[in-house]
Amino acid sequence: MIVILQPDISKDSPEYESLFDHLKQLPNIQLRIHEEHGTQQVLTEIYLVGDTAALAKEEIEALPGVERVVRISQEYRILGRHKDDHRPTSFEYNGIRFGQDNLNLFAGLCAVDNPEHVEMMMKALKENGQQCTRMGAYKPRTNPYSFQGHGKSCLPYVFELAGKYDIKVIAMEITHENHIEEIQQALAATGNPTGVMLQIGTRNTQNFELLKAAGRQRQFPVLIKRGFGITLEESINAAEYLASEGNTKIIFALRGMKTNMGDPHRNIVDFAHVPVIKRLTRMPVCIDPSHSVGTRQAAPDGLLDIMHVTAQGVIAGANMILIDFHPVPTKALVDGPQALTLDELPYFIEDMTIARQAYEKRARLAKSFMK
Ligand code: PEP
Ligand code: MN
Repeated sequence: MIVILQPDISKDSPEYESLFDHLKQLPNIQLRIHEEHGTQQVLTEIYLVGDTAALAKEEIEALPGVERVVRISQEYRILGRHKDDHRPTSFEYNGIRFGQDNLNLFAGLCAVDNPEHVEMMMKALKENGQQCTRMGAYKPRTNPYSFQGHGKSCLPYVFELAGKYDIKVIAMEITHENHIEEIQQALAATGNPTGVMLQIGTRNTQNFELLKAAGRQRQFPVLIKRGFGITLEESINAAEYLASEGNTKIIFALRGMKTNMGDPHRNIVDFAHVPVIKRLTRMPVCIDPSHSVGTRQAAPDGLLDIMHVTAQGVIAGANMILIDFHPVPTKALVDGPQALTLDELPYFIEDMTIARQAYEKRARLAKSFMK
């Protein structure tokens, strides 16, 4: 059961104290407090965990300081959508809005290789009206002898160049909790010219200690990728780990599932789950067509498979696209064969816009049909 308090209620107020005293003495119930610091107000939610079936919703709703009570009927306590649950399905970070009702593009380098390529990428993004990118500094590689990313040494120039080209958010994978501090330090040392969205990769979806560390910090939102060999429920529970530690600025990414049934694609594309995640949870949904498809093969109509699956995800209501680009894919140190080129960026954006407009039209049609 979630007890949602009146906005901006102070912990020192008599209402809060008397409410808390009352809830504390409920038998077989533990309390967990969550605070959401929005731009306008602070929202406090108290989670009642344990034998809540015996509690009357109306009685708790009548207590001082309570705005409303949501009885949780399913899993995913914090991130789930529950009956009469009007909690937000969006958040803002560094001036960019992320929601279940909009679309953001994160085109960029799978792995940072050198400052020239980072600058070429960011310049192209600015010229095409983009304020978000992806830049991999810490790369989890299957082969221990493969390039593992430049790590913290590349962060200063990546952040400075982001500032120069008005990039507001960089999606960056972390593979160890120490990376959070390295990113914080590099941002502070360069004067916070940009923002970072921490990315948990598919190989770490169930690295619970990493999830707890990313969930404990509130500075950065988190993009969590679906585990490539586990159930959807297990992956959503992994996202719930982040939220249970206090960070609810979370985006859930689909990136294909590992099975030979997807051949000749690198993974089998799972974007049919875009509406499923939106139905089960309040998280915006990201699609990663690059790691799903893994090649630049084109269909006879001239469109790359990567663009076809992007359109499939977007027309189903995806809210974010994470995609590999590279100025010179043959020189990329990681995943060159799946990268789109900078010339293809405006073409990709236009194709994506067509799919988004089609989605919006479909959503309007569904609404008019339901009336
Ligand atoms: C990536 O986005 O660079 C990446 C390694 O993705 P995934 O975790 O989906 O393999
Ligand atoms: Mn990659």
